[in-house]
Amino acid sequence: MTTFTDFQLSRRVQQAIDDMGFEEPSPIQAACIPLVLQGKDVIGQAQTGTGKTAAFGVPIIEMMGTGRHVQALILTPTRELAIQVAGELRKIAKYARVRTLPIYGGQSIGHQIRALQQGVGVVIGTPGRVLDHLRRGTLKLDKVRTVVLDEADEMLDMGFIEDIEAILKETPQERQTLLFSATFPHEVKQLAVRYMKNPEHVTVNRGEMTVPLIDQIYYKVLERNKLESLCRIIDSEDVSLGIIFCRTKRGVDELTEALLSRGYLVDGLHGDLSQAQRDRVMKKFRNGDIEFLVATDVAARGIDVTNVTHVINYDIPQDPESYVHRIGRTGRAGRRGLAITLVTPREFKLLKQIERETKAPLVGREVPTLADVA
Ligand code: ADP
Ligand code: MG
Repeated sequence: MTTFTDFQLSRRVQQAIDDMGFEEPSPIQAACIPLVLQGKDVIGQAQTGTGKTAAFGVPIIEMMGTGRHVQALILTPTRELAIQVAGELRKIAKYARVRTLPIYGGQSIGHQIRALQQGVGVVIGTPGRVLDHLRRGTLKLDKVRTVVLDEADEMLDMGFIEDIEAILKETPQERQTLLFSATFPHEVKQLAVRYMKNPEHVTVNRGEMTVPLIDQIYYKVLERNKLESLCRIIDSEDVSLGIIFCRTKRGVDELTEALLSRGYLVDGLHGDLSQAQRDRVMKKFRNGDIEFLVATDVAARGIDVTNVTHVINYDIPQDPESYVHRIGRTGRAGRRGLAITLVTPREFKLLKQIERETKAPLVGREVPTLADVA
């Protein structure tokens, strides 16, 4: 059994961890933190919600030297994730006097430039905006010690490979590179081979891709009854916070409207919204002002809201990896969660494929009748 004190962290970092209420390291943290502190390159593969942020965040803050230059760079696939990781790092750095700054598209670049000029120790950014700053000369990475590729699989999925490569070229050869990913497809392996030095590969829960604390069920529904079925299902569930996934942006808008008109507290999140709109929606969701967030995969990537009780696949995900990412929005930090998938007869093959690849048999249920709901 490992404890945080085994890492012999400085008082300022240990105190911050205590304040965060972390009693013991998660398995991925127990494995990664000592390796990162030794300066090794590390590949960390673990399901979502297993504490990967602190697995790199704790040793990075612990290793921060003096000076006002950027010492660590963390790349994340989305704005939301950049903000979230920055928030977690700020907590870890609470007593360490390290400045952290999220930089992402959609926010005023002038504001970010001024913040960077004041001296930032850790930059957390999306590849596009980081590259933008590098080209403007408003961000210098020549003294970076550690680079983190967070949710590497997602970043590659979103087509960021060239941006990532261009950014890595601006960092010192002798840097430490850390790569975190829930899944490990070929493209991620290639990235590791090209940009990492003798990486230690840490895998937690190999072979069991989904999170055990998530109960997974499906409902067989007919395309034309989908909305009605969804309403009956959510009426029969005790939902505190839920995310409903749709395949397309248009699907998100339509379902949001339909649910609003039936009196549900929902809001939609997708890539066509402005950053200000997205921030507003996420704030409402975090505060519990809405019961459901209706979202596309991309918009919901990496969102860490601890008390999400339900993930509902209104449209079944097109591949098993997407399924794993979606349902990983619930069952976080040791809490239980329920993942519900609506399946139309033509989609049954997809369901079987998901079951096979995640090795998680989904339990089938009948859509509640009106009497059940009442
Ligand atoms: P991942 O990146 O693996 O999806 P996160 O780093 O976002 O996971 O962590 C998921 C949640 O678990 C966060 O709310 C985080 O604060 C919490 N958490 C992380 N490590 C611990 C720990 N050792 N003890 C308790 N909670 C933790
Ligand atoms: Mg993460």
